[in-house]
Amino acid sequence: MLNKKTVDDLKVSGKNVLVRCDFNVPIQDGAITSDARIVGALPTIKKLIADGGRVILCSHLGQPKEVDPAFSLAPVAKRLGELLDKLVVFAADDTVVGDNARQAVSGMKDGDVVLLENTRFRKEETKNGEAFSKDLASLADIYVDDAFGSSHRAHCSTVGVTQFVKESAVGYLMQKEIEYLGNAVNNPVRPFVAILGGAKVSDKINVINNLLEKVDTLIIGGGMAYTFLKAMGHGVGDSLLEADKVEYSKQMMGKAKEKGVKLLLPIDTVVSDKFSNDSNFKTVESSKIEDGWMGVDIGEKTRELFAAAIKDAKTVIWNGPMGVFEMENFNKGTIAVAQAMADIDGMSVIGGGDSAAAVIQLGFADKMSHISTGGGASLEFLEGIVLPGVAAVEDRA
Ligand code: ADP
Ligand code: MG
Repeated sequence: MLNKKTVDDLKVSGKNVLVRCDFNVPIQDGAITSDARIVGALPTIKKLIADGGRVILCSHLGQPKEVDPAFSLAPVAKRLGELLDKLVVFAADDTVVGDNARQAVSGMKDGDVVLLENTRFRKEETKNGEAFSKDLASLADIYVDDAFGSSHRAHCSTVGVTQFVKESAVGYLMQKEIEYLGNAVNNPVRPFVAILGGAKVSDKINVINNLLEKVDTLIIGGGMAYTFLKAMGHGVGDSLLEADKVEYSKQMMGKAKEKGVKLLLPIDTVVSDKFSNDSNFKTVESSKIEDGWMGVDIGEKTRELFAAAIKDAKTVIWNGPMGVFEMENFNKGTIAVAQAMADIDGMSVIGGGDSAAAVIQLGFADKMSHISTGGGASLEFLEGIVLPGVAAVEDRA
């Protein structure tokens, strides 16, 4: 059970509720190219409106170094208004909490919605400075955090603000993320299998280490597998290799043995003579990768091996594609793992930005129990780190 206060625990009627959303949407030439994140925020916003809250929304957008109209949230206000079929007042203050915001908020009636300007227009935002945290809090009685994707960063709008409001809670999106990821990692129904892949061992050092404490089986594929194959004494040709992580990989193989965790590595590999979809490629045993060839996907025997290990699992967490899935010739390993996960009875959870993109692009999105919306945040969760944005929200009484 989640021990954080949620929007269902709040009494918001007549109160000003500041909601930190993730409206970090892709924008091209002033037009939003995907409104998925705005759609994702609707359940919490609608609930607060229905309960008579005065809903003040905030978010960051991109990484502007200073106030820059190209990073304004104005297009989000417009799109959100269409989706809610309701006026969303946009407070266009360069200081985020300025005259426009104060005036708009003081004129609010129950159920009204105001959107503040990009929180990154204030330099202190990313430094968790007190002045901006207080400014944000001054608009509201209650703070709701629904921006999981930003919860691994201690910023004014995710952490600082909670110190200066009377009450705080998590929104539905955030609740779903921490329930799924939390249950999977900390309270898994067994057998519990984790699959790790992606480009580099060095990106996932703490993920590997933490998951080895928890899982029954750890599967390693993708670019990071070659550093493990090297640690086993194999040559890896021109495959991705982090020479300075070979020793670490050895340690992790030792740790798996010590913990009784079954560790699976690719037994065969698709190798290519260039990093391109338009190349010569073939499948070889993982111990026989020659110079001039690079591993770009797991081979067919490995696909079967991994799928068999996933088949009987009750909980599966996956982070990191099994190969260069962006190239059609090398997406078969990633498809095979996605298919195996889609077929299980138990819980299937995807973390990581590229992994989520791969699962969606390959058409498996609706077959998974949960696809995390927070790339970096989900990785830190898998590392066992307490996310500052989650920690800052009040516990349930
Ligand atoms: P996530 O964002 O889900 O954490 P990563 O960023 O770690 O995942 O890894 C994704 C990238 O790894 C993809 O762009 C994919 O092409 C790359 N990748 C996977 N396997 C290989 C490989 N064998 N060689 C090179 N790159 C690979
Ligand atoms: Mg990535």
